[in-house]
Amino acid sequence: MDFIAGSWSEPGAPDGAIEDRSPADLSMLLGRFPWAVAQVERAIQAASEAQPGFGALPPQDRARLVRRVGAILKEREEELANAIALDVGKPLWEARLEAQACAAKAAITADEGLKLVSTFPAPGHAGAECRFRPLGILAVLGPFNFPVHLPNGHILPALACGNAVVFKPSEIAPHAAEVYGRCLEDAELPRGVFNLVQGGPAVGAALGAHPAVDGVLFTGSWSVGQAIERANQGQTKLLALEMGGKNAAVVLADADVEKAAYDVLFSAFVSAGQRCTAASRAVVVGDARAFAVRIAKLAEKLSIGHPLDEGVFMGPLASPAALEKFEEGVRGSGGETLLQSRRLAPRGLQGCYASPSVHFVQQRHGTPYEREELFGPDLAVYPAASEEEALEIANATDYGLAASVHTRSEEAFDRCQRALACGVVNWNAPTVGASGRLPFGGLKRSGNYRPAALWSPLYCATPVAVMRGEATLDRKKLAPGVLWVDE
Ligand code: NAD
Repeated sequence: MDFIAGSWSEPGAPDGAIEDRSPADLSMLLGRFPWAVAQVERAIQAASEAQPGFGALPPQDRARLVRRVGAILKEREEELANAIALDVGKPLWEARLEAQACAAKAAITADEGLKLVSTFPAPGHAGAECRFRPLGILAVLGPFNFPVHLPNGHILPALACGNAVVFKPSEIAPHAAEVYGRCLEDAELPRGVFNLVQGGPAVGAALGAHPAVDGVLFTGSWSVGQAIERANQGQTKLLALEMGGKNAAVVLADADVEKAAYDVLFSAFVSAGQRCTAASRAVVVGDARAFAVRIAKLAEKLSIGHPLDEGVFMGPLASPAALEKFEEGVRGSGGETLLQSRRLAPRGLQGCYASPSVHFVQQRHGTPYEREELFGPDLAVYPAASEEEALEIANATDYGLAASVHTRSEEAFDRCQRALACGVVNWNAPTVGASGRLPFGGLKRSGNYRPAALWSPLYCATPVAVMRGEATLDRKKLAPGVLWVDE
């Protein structure tokens, strides 16, 4: 169902319906979600009626509302986690972390984020100050892999800054999005301030290009980000695009190999490789093949199963289409296959399960496998003769989201961090670690230089420079050549 102007309804004349099945067990129907492009117009109408009043509230009142949303998200964390786990197949332990991050985002936004967009003075210019105003109506387009946390990461700052929001979740996770929407409903925000419309690319495209939308906050693939840019050519709206990655873990010769192997294993296969920050490449200075063999042995032992089962590390891929796309991508590896991915049916379940694969790539040929995001449980290991060569390989991608460097030397880490063209560079830690209390975003194809996480309020509000003059005329301060004639 769609949530528009404070109430839930199905479109009167649907253009289609999403049949939402769990990738963990395709016989499990999570719901039917009818959608219609016309709902976009209704949601924008509701948002435009609600925004002026909401935007005029004092920031502390809006911060209070955001905290209330956070309290409800906390209360309903388990329900949210279950919905996420079933909808996209991530194991419950991970889905719980996602749900916890949603509530944490409320506190971070209210306590720290809003400070970034609070009025500040211009020293030396009496009375001059920078104020911030909301943009107006913001469209939030969500990805499937963090179906709640990432949209929520745009929605709460957008609301805190006084915007009205129209959220279109991923068509792969409409059930989790509806549970999230019901949490926002419970927070009793003013009607029309938060709206949710279900649907796929057609609804996303209509919303993202709508002339009444003042900003598009998008998390997803580079190709869709490009489509959004093209659709908005000639329009003045803000685009905050958080896109894909082709992330590398750089393992230097002095690294603790066991620790590096654990970090790389985790980075490559957690969420079945479906994280924007997943390591799809490891570049190893030293015995790279031995490192690859070690990872392959460990990957073979990872526990793969239904997301609600105990002790499961990896669930299925998020949909039959995601599974097929992954298999197709891995077929083009061209490297030495140390571990081959296979379809699995844990407990006899018909789902989108694939086991991990590991490739050793001695010769690079610039193939799509080496360059494009695979978004599945595969790791390519590349040998490098030196730190310089390792950095060159790591940077040989159109993306620039995340990297990790594994070394005991702080100097080496600092050198690598400066050389790596990425927005996230972790030291002796997985590529997938990110803090909500830091900015988060990528370079090149990974983003358009509007980092999210802590800094999301910066794209949800626009600065207004205010200079203050004297209220009355001082005849001694007239510009040269102005002869004031008193009447
Ligand atoms: P996607 O690009 O396929 O879809 C994202 C959203 O865009 C969906 O809601 C979809 O319906 C919508 N959409 C599709 N076509 C559209 C169009 N023409 N106009 C407007 N909206 C449209 O992405 P996905 O497969 O759901 O998610 C995986 C991708 O997201 C990966 O590339 C991953 O790296 C990226 N991602 C990036 C970050 C980040 O913070 N940088 C985080 C998570 C995921």
